[in-house]
Amino acid sequence: MSGTAQQTVMVVEDEEAFIDALVVGLRREGFGVEVARDGAEALVSFDKVNPDIVLLDVMLPKVSGTDVCREIRKKSQVPIIMVSAKGAEIDTVVGLEVGADDYIVKPYRIRELVARVRAALRRSSVTTDGDFDAGTGVSVGGISIDPDQHIVTVRGTLTKLPLKEFELLYVLMANAGRVMTRDTLIDRVWGSDYYGDTKTLDVHIKRLRSKVEVDPSAPVAILTIRGLGYKFERPA
Ligand code: CA
Repeated sequence: MSGTAQQTVMVVEDEEAFIDALVVGLRREGFGVEVARDGAEALVSFDKVNPDIVLLDVMLPKVSGTDVCREIRKKSQVPIIMVSAKGAEIDTVVGLEVGADDYIVKPYRIRELVARVRAALRRSSVTTDGDFDAGTGVSVGGISIDPDQHIVTVRGTLTKLPLKEFELLYVLMANAGRVMTRDTLIDRVWGSDYYGDTKTLDVHIKRLRSKVEVDPSAPVAILTIRGLGYKFERPA
């Protein structure tokens, strides 16, 4: 990192071998590290530490990583990267559904993890700095989105969206009627340095549909364009 204030990673992990490697690896990269060894401790120390990013193991004693994620999301848009064991990807998808930004599967290389952490921090700072919010409001087919005020209205009802869902919806709506390829969407919302699984995009689309579609099982606003990507449909 450049000469800015040190950024703190909150590591929520119960396996000592992973904790040691993470603490050493992240400190070496210039991050401050705070460790919580179970979900309950994570929730208590989150408020005290006020971390810049949370690295959240899914399988935790006391309170699961998914529940920790859900609780943090009630009060904070801090970037959250879920960590799951191989074969437990289902838990990770649930994690994304409750508002995690990204996930990584164990065993991972510290170098890859650090790259993901940096990318997530960069994306969150871009958003907070207002670069993303430079656009103007868009209204299509009963749905309005205002990036300046971070407000979405669905058929007259104010609807709260987590950051990534909001950005994704904005990119789709600002390009309504146009097919957006998967690569373009991932690039615009997660950044060109995104290393994660493309499943992340589909999970976010699914979450968006559950909030903006009249019938999420038969979407008419956010359409899947097979083999290409997605399109926000302009009503005829
Ligand atoms: Ca664990």
